[in-house]
Amino acid sequence: MKVWATVLCILSVMVTPTFGEPLDTVFLEELTWPELRTLVQTGKTTMIFPIGGTEQNGPHMALGKHNARVRMLSERIARTLGNALVAPVIAYVPEGTLSPPTGHMRFAGTITVPEDVFRRLLESAARSARLHGFRDVVFLGDHGSTQVGEKMVAARLNREWAATPVRAHAIEEYYHAATAGFRALLSARGYRPEELGDHAALPDTALTLALDPSLVRTGLLRDDRAPGAGSGADGDPRRASAELGRLGVDLIVARTVAAIKASTTNLR
Ligand SMILES: [Zn+2]
Repeated sequence: MKVWATVLCILSVMVTPTFGEPLDTVFLEELTWPELRTLVQTGKTTMIFPIGGTEQNGPHMALGKHNARVRMLSERIARTLGNALVAPVIAYVPEGTLSPPTGHMRFAGTITVPEDVFRRLLESAARSARLHGFRDVVFLGDHGSTQVGEKMVAARLNREWAATPVRAHAIEEYYHAATAGFRALLSARGYRPEELGDHAALPDTALTLALDPSLVRTGLLRDDRAPGAGSGADGDPRRASAELGRLGVDLIVARTVAAIKASTTNLR
């Protein structure tokens, strides 16, 4: 009996860093600091920073689209990689100017921050991950305007960290797969250019339906007419479906995982 108790005790230490239930989360926010430290020590040395944005998404989709999407996709990407954890979503990003309001700032609810504030935030977040033992810091940006800043910050950190084993990675393929890549897939299935659009159109809406349908006002998708000028949507979302969205999700996860693996190898 005593022997079994000892064996069980050893097994539980091997399975989990605590004596509780085995942990089944990749989210940093759901771990205690000793659990996090043990996971890093046992090989979870990639930290994904999901970068969203709080912005208007037409009359039919909620302002948190980017944040919800990048969190859920980051989880799938981290689980597929097997050695990654996911930091809290960065939900405040550059969206345009306040005075006069430009871009999405013309619509209620959009929140912007200056570009330099965004870059300094990313930089400090990446430095924090390095301090705690992560070897690869990955930026995944769901919104277009954050891509350049992510690349600049990663390049600057990699110059500074050249003599160390730590690297930062701005994975543009995530954004390319979610936009041009998914549009090409839909186009090959016969969806028209005016449906594919640029913002809050069919691809954007399908991805959100697949990941968190509570963010989509499906009643509005049954309108006779597509959302027009001044609606905030660019393109026609009415034939969006969760089924189509799942094709996009699979594409984004597969291409992003491949790009992270390539970058973490090539940058050393
Ligand atoms: Zn956006």
